[in-house]
Amino acid sequence: MNESPDPLPERVLGVFAHPDDPEFFAGGTFAKFAAAGSAVAFVVATSGDKGSSEPEMTSARLAAIREAEETAAASALGVPQVCFLRYPDGALQVSLELREALTRVIRKLRPELVITCDPQVFYRDGGSLNHPDHRAIGEATLDAVYPTARDRLNYPQHEQEGLAPHKVRHLYIAGSPNPNFRIDVSDHIDTQVKALAEHRSQISDIQRLDEMIRERTRDAENDRHYEYFHRVVMRQ
Ligand SMILES: [Zn+2]
Repeated sequence: MNESPDPLPERVLGVFAHPDDPEFFAGGTFAKFAAAGSAVAFVVATSGDKGSSEPEMTSARLAAIREAEETAAASALGVPQVCFLRYPDGALQVSLELREALTRVIRKLRPELVITCDPQVFYRDGGSLNHPDHRAIGEATLDAVYPTARDRLNYPQHEQEGLAPHKVRHLYIAGSPNPNFRIDVSDHIDTQVKALAEHRSQISDIQRLDEMIRERTRDAENDRHYEYFHRVVMRQ
């Protein structure tokens, strides 16, 4: 498993479907990049407005709660900027509209590194299914990185808005069943758990979650903690 680090990116963009996804999928890695001095930003496609079983809850109220939770969680990781696209939770589609929205953010923020979900995952060993929004955001993000953001004749109106084409150098795909790269996040697990604890509407037992995160990331051979990715180094 490759773990030799890439040169520290100046700008990192995490693109995910729901509030709490950036923290669950790659919270240690984002905390590590932010602590090292990278400018990290998140795009969150939905505001998680279906994630409650409380009888009194409405989607509008839940969206506001979850955006505030995500903003606080990102801040705990050292990430000052979260862009919410406000697509409906549970109904995210790999549409050209979503691709344009992501292309616009990539051209605006100009990240060398983009981190997103693996769009190929329908289920995981051990009996859990992947959320369709996670697949959709992964696929739309990959498509926006290549070829759309790179080639200037895609969405030529962006050029008129002052947004030049942009070539992303690295993609780290989280939650992949075939990871080829890992990042040592041992010094950032505490920060990740602190960030996750901000999602109060979703998490009832933070102690249990803390144990789960440590167990999931731990390498028994050296007692260090790692997050795993499929890394793509863009040649084009
Ligand atoms: Zn999610």
